[in-house]
Amino acid sequence: MTERIYNFSAGPAALPLPVLEQAQKDLISLGDTGIGILEHSHRSKAFLAVYEAAEALCRELAGVPENYKVLFVQGGASTQFFTIPMNLLSKDQTADYLVTGSWSKKAVKEAKMFGNVNVACSSEDQNFSYIPEEVNYSEKPAYVHFTSNNTIYGTEFASEPEVPGDTPLICDASSDIFSRPLDISKYGIVYAGAQKNLGPSGVTLVIIRDDLIEQGPSDIPTMLQYRTHSEAGSMYNTPPTFGIYILGQVLQWLKDQGGLSVMQEKNQAKAGKLYDYLDQSKLFKPTAAKKDRSLMNVTFVTGDADLDAKFIAQATAAGLDGLKGHRSVGGMRASIYNAFPEAGVDKLIETMSQFEQENAS
Ligand code: PLP
Repeated sequence: MTERIYNFSAGPAALPLPVLEQAQKDLISLGDTGIGILEHSHRSKAFLAVYEAAEALCRELAGVPENYKVLFVQGGASTQFFTIPMNLLSKDQTADYLVTGSWSKKAVKEAKMFGNVNVACSSEDQNFSYIPEEVNYSEKPAYVHFTSNNTIYGTEFASEPEVPGDTPLICDASSDIFSRPLDISKYGIVYAGAQKNLGPSGVTLVIIRDDLIEQGPSDIPTMLQYRTHSEAGSMYNTPPTFGIYILGQVLQWLKDQGGLSVMQEKNQAKAGKLYDYLDQSKLFKPTAAKKDRSLMNVTFVTGDADLDAKFIAQATAAGLDGLKGHRSVGGMRASIYNAFPEAGVDKLIETMSQFEQENAS
Protein backbone atom coordinates (compact mmCIF):
# COMPACT_ATOMS: atom_id res chain seq x y z
CA MET A 1 0.00 0.00 0.00
CA THR A 2 1.20 3.56 -0.75
CA GLU A 3 2.56 5.19 2.39
CA ARG A 4 0.34 7.96 3.78
CA ILE A 5 1.92 11.40 3.94
CA TYR A 6 1.23 14.43 6.14
CA ASN A 7 -1.79 16.19 4.67
CA PHE A 8 -2.07 19.86 5.71
CA SER A 9 -5.09 20.46 3.44
CA ALA A 10 -7.67 23.00 4.64
CA GLY A 11 -10.46 20.67 3.57
CA PRO A 12 -11.38 18.01 2.80
CA ALA A 13 -8.79 17.22 5.39
CA ALA A 14 -6.93 14.38 7.11
CA LEU A 15 -9.16 11.82 8.85
CA PRO A 16 -8.12 9.51 11.70
CA LEU A 17 -6.45 6.39 10.28
CA PRO A 18 -8.43 3.93 12.48
CA VAL A 19 -11.64 5.43 11.04
CA LEU A 20 -10.45 4.85 7.48
CA GLU A 21 -9.38 1.30 8.30
CA GLN A 22 -12.78 0.49 9.80
CA ALA A 23 -14.53 2.11 6.82
CA GLN A 24 -12.52 -0.10 4.47
CA LYS A 25 -14.06 -3.16 6.14
CA ASP A 26 -17.56 -1.68 6.39
CA LEU A 27 -17.54 -0.82 2.68
CA ILE A 28 -17.74 -4.52 1.94
CA SER A 29 -19.97 -5.53 4.84
CA LEU A 30 -21.30 -3.31 7.60
CA GLY A 31 -20.77 -5.51 10.64
CA ASP A 32 -22.13 -8.98 9.85
CA THR A 33 -24.93 -7.72 7.57
CA GLY A 34 -23.27 -8.86 4.33
CA ILE A 35 -24.17 -5.48 2.81
CA GLY A 36 -21.70 -2.58 2.56
CA ILE A 37 -22.37 0.79 4.19
CA LEU A 38 -22.79 2.44 0.76
CA GLU A 39 -25.42 -0.11 -0.20
CA HIS A 40 -27.69 -0.11 2.85
CA SER A 41 -31.12 1.49 2.58
CA HIS A 42 -31.35 4.55 4.79
CA ARG A 43 -34.48 2.92 6.24
CA SER A 44 -32.70 -0.35 7.10
CA LYS A 45 -32.27 -1.40 10.72
CA ALA A 46 -28.50 -1.45 10.25
CA PHE A 47 -28.33 2.12 8.97
CA LEU A 48 -30.78 3.42 11.57
CA ALA A 49 -28.38 2.08 14.22
CA VAL A 50 -25.50 3.97 12.54
CA TYR A 51 -27.60 7.14 12.44
CA GLU A 52 -28.75 6.90 16.05
CA ALA A 53 -25.21 6.23 17.26
CA ALA A 54 -23.89 9.28 15.38
CA GLU A 55 -26.58 11.52 16.81
CA ALA A 56 -26.15 10.18 20.34
CA LEU A 57 -22.37 10.69 20.19
CA CYS A 58 -22.83 14.22 18.94
CA ARG A 59 -25.21 15.01 21.80
CA GLU A 60 -22.91 13.40 24.35
CA LEU A 61 -19.65 14.98 23.17
CA ALA A 62 -21.03 18.49 22.78
CA GLY A 63 -23.48 18.29 25.68
CA VAL A 64 -26.41 19.20 23.40
CA PRO A 65 -29.40 20.20 25.57
CA GLU A 66 -32.81 18.50 25.19
CA ASN A 67 -34.38 21.51 23.50
CA TYR A 68 -32.03 21.32 20.50
CA LYS A 69 -32.18 19.06 17.45
CA VAL A 70 -29.17 17.54 15.73
CA LEU A 71 -29.71 17.49 11.96
CA PHE A 72 -27.60 15.97 9.21
CA VAL A 73 -28.34 17.81 5.98
CA GLN A 74 -26.76 18.39 2.55
CA GLY A 75 -25.58 21.35 0.52
CA GLY A 76 -22.58 22.22 2.68
CA ALA A 77 -22.22 25.19 5.00
CA SER A 78 -22.85 27.41 1.96
CA THR A 79 -26.47 26.21 1.83
CA GLN A 80 -26.87 27.27 5.47
CA PHE A 81 -25.76 30.78 4.43
CA PHE A 82 -29.19 31.22 2.77
CA THR A 83 -31.30 28.67 4.68
CA ILE A 84 -30.74 30.63 7.91
CA PRO A 85 -32.04 34.01 6.65
CA MET A 86 -34.74 32.27 4.60
CA ASN A 87 -36.10 30.84 7.86
CA LEU A 88 -35.23 33.55 10.36
CA LEU A 89 -35.08 36.90 8.59
CA SER A 90 -37.96 38.83 7.00
CA LYS A 91 -37.83 41.89 4.75
CA ASP A 92 -38.58 44.30 7.62
CA GLN A 93 -35.96 42.81 9.97
CA THR A 94 -32.21 43.24 10.37
CA ALA A 95 -29.67 40.51 11.06
CA ASP A 96 -26.24 41.38 12.43
CA TYR A 97 -23.12 39.79 10.95
CA LEU A 98 -19.58 39.80 12.36
CA VAL A 99 -17.46 39.89 9.23
CA THR A 100 -14.11 38.27 9.90
CA GLY A 101 -13.30 36.66 6.56
CA SER A 102 -14.47 35.57 3.11
CA TRP A 103 -16.93 33.01 4.47
CA SER A 104 -18.69 35.60 6.63
CA LYS A 105 -18.85 37.88 3.59
CA LYS A 106 -20.48 35.13 1.57
CA ALA A 107 -23.01 34.60 4.37
CA VAL A 108 -23.80 38.35 4.31
CA LYS A 109 -24.35 38.28 0.55
CA GLU A 110 -26.99 35.56 0.90
CA ALA A 111 -28.73 37.16 3.90
CA LYS A 112 -29.21 40.41 1.96
CA MET A 113 -31.61 38.58 -0.36
CA PHE A 114 -34.05 38.09 2.52
CA GLY A 115 -33.79 41.15 4.77
CA ASN A 116 -31.51 43.89 6.06
CA VAL A 117 -27.97 43.18 7.16
CA ASN A 118 -25.99 45.20 9.67
CA VAL A 119 -22.26 44.50 9.49
CA ALA A 120 -21.68 44.78 13.23
CA CYS A 121 -17.91 44.66 12.78
CA SER A 122 -15.38 43.89 10.08
CA SER A 123 -11.66 43.24 9.95
CA GLU A 124 -11.45 43.62 6.18
CA ASP A 125 -9.40 46.84 6.65
CA GLN A 126 -6.40 44.64 7.55
CA ASN A 127 -7.08 41.71 5.25
CA PHE A 128 -8.99 39.89 8.01
CA SER A 129 -5.85 39.34 10.06
CA TYR A 130 -7.62 39.95 13.39
CA ILE A 131 -10.94 39.62 15.23
CA PRO A 132 -12.43 43.06 15.98
CA GLU A 133 -13.04 43.89 19.62
CA GLU A 134 -15.65 46.57 19.01
CA VAL A 135 -19.02 45.38 17.78
CA ASN A 136 -21.93 47.70 16.94
CA TYR A 137 -25.19 45.82 17.05
CA SER A 138 -28.39 47.13 15.49
CA GLU A 139 -31.42 48.01 17.59
CA LYS A 140 -33.11 44.61 17.61
CA PRO A 141 -31.32 42.08 15.43
CA ALA A 142 -33.25 38.98 14.32
CA TYR A 143 -30.03 37.10 15.06
CA VAL A 144 -26.26 37.56 15.25
CA HIS A 145 -24.11 35.47 12.91
CA PHE A 146 -20.37 34.85 13.26
CA THR A 147 -17.69 32.50 11.89
CA SER A 148 -15.83 30.98 14.84
CA ASN A 149 -12.70 30.08 12.85
CA ASN A 150 -11.56 31.83 9.69
CA THR A 151 -10.08 29.02 7.65
CA ILE A 152 -8.40 31.24 5.08
CA TYR A 153 -6.92 33.89 7.37
CA GLY A 154 -5.98 31.74 10.38
CA THR A 155 -7.94 33.66 13.01
CA GLU A 156 -10.34 32.26 15.58
CA PHE A 157 -12.71 33.67 18.20
CA ALA A 158 -11.34 32.79 21.66
CA SER A 159 -14.93 32.54 22.92
CA GLU A 160 -18.48 33.34 21.85
CA PRO A 161 -19.20 37.04 21.20
CA GLU A 162 -21.60 38.68 23.66
CA VAL A 163 -24.98 39.39 22.06
CA PRO A 164 -27.72 41.80 23.08
CA GLY A 165 -30.42 40.27 25.33
CA ASP A 166 -31.83 36.98 24.10
CA THR A 167 -30.83 37.50 20.45
CA PRO A 168 -30.14 34.08 18.88
CA LEU A 169 -26.43 33.59 18.23
CA ILE A 170 -25.67 31.66 15.05
CA CYS A 171 -22.26 30.20 14.36
CA ASP A 172 -20.58 28.87 11.24
CA ALA A 173 -18.20 26.47 13.00
CA SER A 174 -17.14 24.64 9.84
CA SER A 175 -13.44 24.75 10.55
CA ASP A 176 -13.22 24.41 14.32
CA ILE A 177 -16.25 22.40 15.39
CA PHE A 178 -15.46 19.94 18.18
CA SER A 179 -11.85 21.12 18.39
CA ARG A 180 -12.68 22.42 21.89
CA PRO A 181 -15.66 22.29 24.27
CA LEU A 182 -18.56 24.59 23.37
CA ASP A 183 -21.59 25.62 25.38
CA ILE A 184 -24.45 24.90 22.98
CA SER A 185 -26.96 26.65 25.25
CA LYS A 186 -25.35 29.97 24.24
CA TYR A 187 -26.30 29.39 20.60
CA GLY A 188 -29.45 29.37 18.52
CA ILE A 189 -27.75 27.43 15.72
CA VAL A 190 -24.29 25.93 15.26
CA TYR A 191 -23.59 24.53 11.81
CA ALA A 192 -20.59 23.02 10.06
CA GLY A 193 -19.71 21.37 6.78
CA ALA A 194 -18.17 18.07 7.88
CA GLN A 195 -15.09 18.03 5.69
CA LYS A 196 -12.56 19.45 8.16
CA ASN A 197 -13.17 18.10 11.65
CA LEU A 198 -16.07 15.68 11.25
CA GLY A 199 -15.81 13.54 8.15
CA PRO A 200 -16.21 13.74 4.37
CA SER A 201 -17.75 16.58 2.38
CA GLY A 202 -21.43 16.08 1.59
CA VAL A 203 -22.87 16.09 5.09
CA THR A 204 -23.54 19.23 7.11
CA LEU A 205 -24.18 19.17 10.83
CA VAL A 206 -26.82 21.60 12.12
CA ILE A 207 -27.51 21.88 15.86
CA ILE A 208 -30.60 24.07 16.23
CA ARG A 209 -32.81 25.21 19.11
CA ASP A 210 -36.42 24.03 18.89
CA ASP A 211 -38.07 27.47 18.92
CA LEU A 212 -36.02 28.53 15.85
CA ILE A 213 -37.20 25.46 13.96
CA GLU A 214 -40.80 26.47 14.58
CA GLN A 215 -40.18 30.13 13.74
CA GLY A 216 -39.48 29.54 10.04
CA PRO A 217 -42.22 30.15 7.42
CA SER A 218 -44.00 27.12 5.93
CA ASP A 219 -44.35 28.60 2.43
CA ILE A 220 -40.70 28.16 1.45
CA PRO A 221 -39.38 25.03 -0.32
CA THR A 222 -39.90 21.97 1.86
CA MET A 223 -36.24 20.91 1.83
CA LEU A 224 -35.22 24.36 3.08
CA GLN A 225 -37.46 24.36 6.14
CA TYR A 226 -35.71 23.21 9.29
CA ARG A 227 -38.98 21.66 10.50
CA THR A 228 -38.91 19.21 7.57
CA HIS A 229 -35.60 17.73 8.68
CA SER A 230 -36.49 17.94 12.35
CA GLU A 231 -39.83 16.15 11.93
CA ALA A 232 -38.36 13.48 9.65
CA GLY A 233 -35.22 12.84 11.73
CA SER A 234 -33.09 14.06 8.78
CA MET A 235 -34.77 11.40 6.59
CA TYR A 236 -37.31 13.41 4.59
CA ASN A 237 -35.28 12.40 1.56
CA THR A 238 -32.27 10.10 1.25
CA PRO A 239 -29.69 11.48 3.65
CA PRO A 240 -25.93 11.40 2.99
CA THR A 241 -25.62 7.94 4.52
CA PHE A 242 -21.88 7.43 4.04
CA GLY A 243 -21.12 10.90 5.42
CA ILE A 244 -23.24 10.23 8.50
CA TYR A 245 -21.50 6.86 8.97
CA ILE A 246 -18.01 8.42 8.83
CA LEU A 247 -19.08 11.30 11.04
CA GLY A 248 -20.23 8.75 13.64
CA GLN A 249 -16.90 6.93 13.41
CA VAL A 250 -15.00 10.21 13.81
CA LEU A 251 -17.08 11.12 16.86
CA GLN A 252 -16.38 7.70 18.37
CA TRP A 253 -12.67 8.32 17.75
CA LEU A 254 -13.00 11.74 19.43
CA LYS A 255 -14.65 10.10 22.43
CA ASP A 256 -11.88 7.48 22.59
CA GLN A 257 -9.33 10.31 22.60
CA GLY A 258 -10.98 11.65 25.75
CA GLY A 259 -13.58 14.06 24.36
CA LEU A 260 -13.50 17.75 23.55
CA SER A 261 -11.44 18.99 26.53
CA VAL A 262 -8.66 16.55 25.76
CA MET A 263 -8.91 17.49 22.08
CA GLN A 264 -8.50 21.14 23.01
CA GLU A 265 -5.33 20.34 25.00
CA LYS A 266 -3.93 18.37 22.07
CA ASN A 267 -4.79 21.16 19.63
CA GLN A 268 -3.21 23.76 21.90
CA ALA A 269 -0.06 21.66 22.13
CA LYS A 270 0.16 21.14 18.34
CA ALA A 271 -0.54 24.74 17.35
CA GLY A 272 1.51 26.06 20.29
CA LYS A 273 4.65 24.32 19.03
CA LEU A 274 4.22 25.77 15.59
CA TYR A 275 3.54 29.32 16.79
CA ASP A 276 6.51 29.10 19.20
CA TYR A 277 8.73 28.21 16.30
CA LEU A 278 7.28 30.98 14.11
CA ASP A 279 7.69 33.59 16.87
CA GLN A 280 11.44 32.99 17.08
CA SER A 281 12.01 32.44 13.35
CA LYS A 282 13.95 35.08 11.45
CA LEU A 283 12.55 33.91 8.13
CA PHE A 284 8.92 32.84 8.63
CA LYS A 285 6.34 35.25 10.04
CA PRO A 286 2.84 34.40 11.28
CA THR A 287 0.16 36.56 9.60
CA ALA A 288 -2.67 36.53 12.20
CA ALA A 289 -2.79 38.88 15.19
CA LYS A 290 -1.27 37.04 18.15
CA LYS A 291 -4.38 37.28 20.36
CA ASP A 292 -6.61 35.84 17.61
CA ARG A 293 -4.50 32.98 16.32
CA SER A 294 -6.33 29.90 15.12
CA LEU A 295 -5.51 26.50 16.56
CA MET A 296 -6.75 24.92 13.32
CA ASN A 297 -5.19 26.92 10.46
CA VAL A 298 -1.74 28.38 11.00
CA THR A 299 -0.92 31.00 8.36
CA PHE A 300 2.59 32.32 7.74
CA VAL A 301 4.77 33.95 5.08
CA THR A 302 8.42 34.69 4.41
CA GLY A 303 7.50 38.01 2.79
CA ASP A 304 9.03 36.89 -0.50
CA ALA A 305 6.66 35.04 -2.86
CA ASP A 306 9.52 33.20 -4.61
CA LEU A 307 10.93 31.99 -1.31
CA ASP A 308 7.43 30.87 -0.23
CA ALA A 309 7.12 28.85 -3.45
CA LYS A 310 10.57 27.34 -2.92
CA PHE A 311 9.68 26.33 0.62
CA ILE A 312 6.36 24.78 -0.45
CA ALA A 313 8.12 22.77 -3.15
CA GLN A 314 10.77 21.57 -0.69
CA ALA A 315 8.16 20.68 1.93
CA THR A 316 6.09 18.79 -0.63
CA ALA A 317 9.17 16.81 -1.64
CA ALA A 318 9.68 15.98 2.05
CA GLY A 319 6.15 14.50 2.27
CA LEU A 320 4.33 17.56 3.66
CA ASP A 321 1.38 18.20 1.38
CA GLY A 322 -1.17 21.03 1.09
CA LEU A 323 0.85 23.85 2.64
CA LYS A 324 0.15 26.48 -0.01
CA GLY A 325 -1.78 29.38 1.52
CA HIS A 326 -5.07 30.62 0.09
CA ARG A 327 -4.50 33.04 -2.79
CA SER A 328 -5.96 35.97 -0.79
CA VAL A 329 -3.25 35.66 1.88
CA GLY A 330 -0.44 33.98 -0.05
CA GLY A 331 2.42 32.23 1.72
CA MET A 332 1.71 29.10 3.65
CA ARG A 333 -1.15 27.62 5.65
CA ALA A 334 -0.79 24.56 7.84
CA SER A 335 -4.24 23.16 8.57
CA ILE A 336 -3.91 21.00 11.65
CA TYR A 337 -7.42 19.87 12.54
CA ASN A 338 -8.27 17.30 15.23
CA ALA A 339 -7.10 14.30 13.22
CA PHE A 340 -3.76 15.81 12.16
CA PRO A 341 -0.96 14.02 14.05
CA GLU A 342 1.50 15.90 16.26
CA ALA A 343 4.36 14.09 14.52
CA GLY A 344 3.41 15.94 11.33
CA VAL A 345 3.76 19.28 13.11
CA ASP A 346 7.20 18.18 14.38
CA LYS A 347 8.21 17.25 10.85
CA LEU A 348 7.03 20.64 9.54
CA ILE A 349 9.04 22.51 12.18
CA GLU A 350 12.11 20.41 11.36
CA THR A 351 11.68 21.15 7.63
CA MET A 352 11.23 24.86 8.27
CA SER A 353 14.31 25.03 10.52
CA GLN A 354 16.39 23.32 7.89
CA PHE A 355 15.06 25.62 5.17
CA GLU A 356 15.78 28.64 7.35
CA GLN A 357 19.40 27.56 7.84
CA GLU A 358 19.88 26.95 4.13
CA ASN A 359 18.29 30.26 3.16
CA ALA A 360 19.68 32.57 5.85
CA SER A 361 20.58 35.92 4.32
N1 PLP B 1 -17.44 28.28 6.27
C1 PLP B 1 -16.14 28.06 6.55
C2 PLP B 1 -15.55 28.65 7.79
C3 PLP B 1 -15.37 27.29 5.69
O1 PLP B 1 -14.07 27.09 5.95
C4 PLP B 1 -15.96 26.75 4.53
C5 PLP B 1 -15.18 25.91 3.58
O2 PLP B 1 -14.00 25.84 3.56
C6 PLP B 1 -17.30 27.02 4.28
C7 PLP B 1 -18.02 27.77 5.17
C8 PLP B 1 -17.98 26.48 3.05
O3 PLP B 1 -18.36 25.19 3.33
P1 PLP B 1 -19.02 24.23 2.23
O4 PLP B 1 -17.98 23.96 1.22
O5 PLP B 1 -19.41 23.03 3.06
O6 PLP B 1 -20.21 24.93 1.66
